[in-house]
Amino acid sequence: MLVTEWPKSMEAWTRTKRSLAGGVSTGLRAQARPHPIFFSGGAGARLTDLDGNTYLDYVLGWGPNIIGHGHPQLVAAVQGQIEHGATYGSGHEFEYLAAEAVLDAYPAFDRLVWSNSGSEAAQVALRIARGATGRQHFVKFSGHYHGWTDPVLVGYRGGRAGSSSAAESLGQSENASRDAVVLEWGNLDDLRATLTGRDIAAVVLEPVLCNSGVIEPPDGYLEGVREICTETGTVLIFDEVITGFRLAFGGAVEKYGVVPDLAVLGKAIAGGLPLSAVVGKSELLDLTQAGVVHAGTYNGNPVVLAGALATLDVLKREGTYERLDALGRRLASGLGDQLTRHGVVGAVNQVGPVVQCALGVPAVRTFTEFMGADTKAYDLLLVELLRRGVFALPGGRWYLSTEHTEHDIDTTIRIFGEVVSVSS
Ligand code: PLP
Repeated sequence: MLVTEWPKSMEAWTRTKRSLAGGVSTGLRAQARPHPIFFSGGAGARLTDLDGNTYLDYVLGWGPNIIGHGHPQLVAAVQGQIEHGATYGSGHEFEYLAAEAVLDAYPAFDRLVWSNSGSEAAQVALRIARGATGRQHFVKFSGHYHGWTDPVLVGYRGGRAGSSSAAESLGQSENASRDAVVLEWGNLDDLRATLTGRDIAAVVLEPVLCNSGVIEPPDGYLEGVREICTETGTVLIFDEVITGFRLAFGGAVEKYGVVPDLAVLGKAIAGGLPLSAVVGKSELLDLTQAGVVHAGTYNGNPVVLAGALATLDVLKREGTYERLDALGRRLASGLGDQLTRHGVVGAVNQVGPVVQCALGVPAVRTFTEFMGADTKAYDLLLVELLRRGVFALPGGRWYLSTEHTEHDIDTTIRIFGEVVSVSS
């Protein structure tokens, strides 16, 4: 066993590896440095590990815990339902209550379907787009992530090493992955040329490129994509799995004022419980009752929907998004100041409560610049932060919740400063 400052986590991970592949529940968590930490619980913006250490949490379950850990309203909602059963395989009142709450946030739309994960919802959205247009292919953009299924796991980090295709995984269906046409994000001429006269059912994109640098769309770009999709009869899908209920109550649609044909929601929607949705107009969504297959044993289960209703109730309180944005700005400017003060080359981006910190590059404005960041140096920084009680994601993204305080942020900035001063 490796020498570690987290002996109980290491012991738990060693045991876990004997039964669970890699000792992690998703491959991405194997990126954790120095090794996965095992937690015993959380409260608000804090997590406690098996060794008894407490951390300020900027991972937030990779995004979902936007109202922190153990929020009393979420706990009460889940407890209130679980006592009456976990799932019925039939209708219940939370189905319409939660659906109405989501549609309140997306007033341009009048329908949704429930799924359990962002990956599933992205599949449903693409299927609806194909069903509506009778076309097969779709456009996605380099660095944008839409889940781990065969058609969309393409051109995310540039393709699998040693493979000539843009597919990312060993064992991935080459046929499915050929449905995607991968373009560079931000170039409207390219998009117009690709969509004109081609068999393209949908354009799918992250309205803010959160998965690769937290990069905002260039001015006028979303409007331009909307226009080209309308002209060519292509279904425009915003993947709002990260941005939904995070940048604003109505996500990127509200923030940028551009309305896609479908929006895919996940993560924050149920405060940490597994829920996703596709929202849009009934003309498209009702295809799921007219030939487009959308299924799932756990879809719309009452425990999760009770949790979603409680989460959305917390999020829609007056001032939530102004506060989340202010916290995001405070963290981003603090991290940026520390890099400058200690002469460390790096870039900090921020949109609402999502912050990106990259080392070794002066700016991250494109996917290419993001890929140029020094991930090894960042991994070392993450371990030093962890040692000082700050838990952040590999890859440089930081998430903030309603439970973080200005004092938490200032503490974090001070610790970050200590760490970069040692490494500079
Ligand atoms: N879309 C985006 C933008 C995401 O960030 C993610 C996950 O991180 C997904 C889709 C897939 O969601 P899930 O991990 O819930 O399947």
